[in-house]
Amino acid sequence: MSKKNQPPWAPSPEYAALLPEISGCTFNGFGEIEPRRPRQIFWLKKPGDHPFARLLDAVKQRFSSVEAYREVYANADRGPHKLPDPAAERTGDSAEKWTHRVKAFALNKPGARPADYPGLGSEAELVGVANIDPTWVYEGFESTLPHLVVIGNAMNHARLSRVPSSAEDPEGQLEVCDQYNRGARVANWLAHWIRSQGFQAKPHAGPWVGSLNLLPAAIACGFGELGKHGSLINREYGSSFRIAAVETDMSLLADAPDRFGADDFCLNCQVCTNACPPQAISNDKQLVRGTVKWAVNFDRCIPYFNETFGCGICLAVCPWSTPGRAPKLAQRFSRRAAEKAARS
Ligand code: SF4
Ligand code: SF4
Repeated sequence: MSKKNQPPWAPSPEYAALLPEISGCTFNGFGEIEPRRPRQIFWLKKPGDHPFARLLDAVKQRFSSVEAYREVYANADRGPHKLPDPAAERTGDSAEKWTHRVKAFALNKPGARPADYPGLGSEAELVGVANIDPTWVYEGFESTLPHLVVIGNAMNHARLSRVPSSAEDPEGQLEVCDQYNRGARVANWLAHWIRSQGFQAKPHAGPWVGSLNLLPAAIACGFGELGKHGSLINREYGSSFRIAAVETDMSLLADAPDRFGADDFCLNCQVCTNACPPQAISNDKQLVRGTVKWAVNFDRCIPYFNETFGCGICLAVCPWSTPGRAPKLAQRFSRRAAEKAARS
C-alpha cells in the first residue's frame, strides 16, 4: 500500500483525555464568516486557565523530559534578558535612513552595529518592515506601536530534514530551536539598540507566542506567500526559516508583499498533504475568520506534533525548501503569472 493510501496516524487515548470540549479548529475560527482577531493557542509560557492548558502543559512536559530540548533554550544566548528604558532624547533621522539602519543592524552588515553591540556572524537572513494591522493582535491584547520589524532566520535544511524528531534523535527539532534562539538574539539586541535611540521597542521571540500573530505580518512585509501547509514560502529559503520581530514607534517605511506564484504552485502540489502522517493538510483552502486561505487542521496536527517534539515534516519536504530550488521556482512561476496577466 502506498503511503498515500495508508490510514492516518492516530493519537493515543491518553492524548484525547487532555483535550477540552471545544475543538482546536473551532477555537481558531474554522468556518466563521465574520472576520475576528485570532486567539493565542501555541506556545503559551503560562497557559493559566486557557481552554487548552492541559494539552499545552503536557506538550511542555514532554519537551522538557528530554535533556537536549531542556538545554537548548535554557543555555542559549538569546541576547539581553533585560532591556533599558528608551533614552530620554530621541536621535533624529529620516524614516528612510532609520529603515536602512534597522535592517542593516538586523542583518549585522559591516559597520551597522555600534562597537559595544555584539554581532555573532550572519545573524538574520531576512528582514522587512510592516505597519501593524489591528487584525494581527491576539484577542485580549492591544498594540500601541505602529511598526513591526520582522526578522527571518534560515534553517539548515539537512538538519531540519531529520524530522520527525524523537528523544533518541532530536537533531531536526534542535535545528528549529537553534534558529528561534538566533531570532531571539537579533530581536532582543535590535530592541535594545532602538531603545538607545529614544524609541519604544518590544521584541517578539519564538517559540513563545506574544501579543501579535507574526505570520500575516511576515506576509505583509514581503517574506513570501502562505503555503498549503499553513506556513510561509519564501522565494529564497522556501519554508526553511523561522521568524522573530520587534514592535516599535521608530519612523519606518513598510515593505510590500511579495507574490511570485507559490500559491499557484500549491494548487497543483500535494507533497506536504501526502507526507503529513495525521493527514492534517487539506488540498482545499478553508474559510477561517472571514478569509478563505490555506489552513492546517489543528486537531489532527497537534497530537502528532506533540508525539514527535514539534514535527516539521511539511516544512522539510516542501519542494521550495530544498536548498537552491526556491529562486528557480520563483523565477519560473513569476514569469508564468506575468504572461497570464498579459493575456487577460
Ligand atoms: S507539522 Fe507535521 S503533523 Fe502538522 S501539518 Fe505539518 S506534517 Fe502535518
Ligand atoms: S509541499 Fe507543495 S503544496 Fe505543500 S506547501 Fe509546499 S509547495 Fe505547497
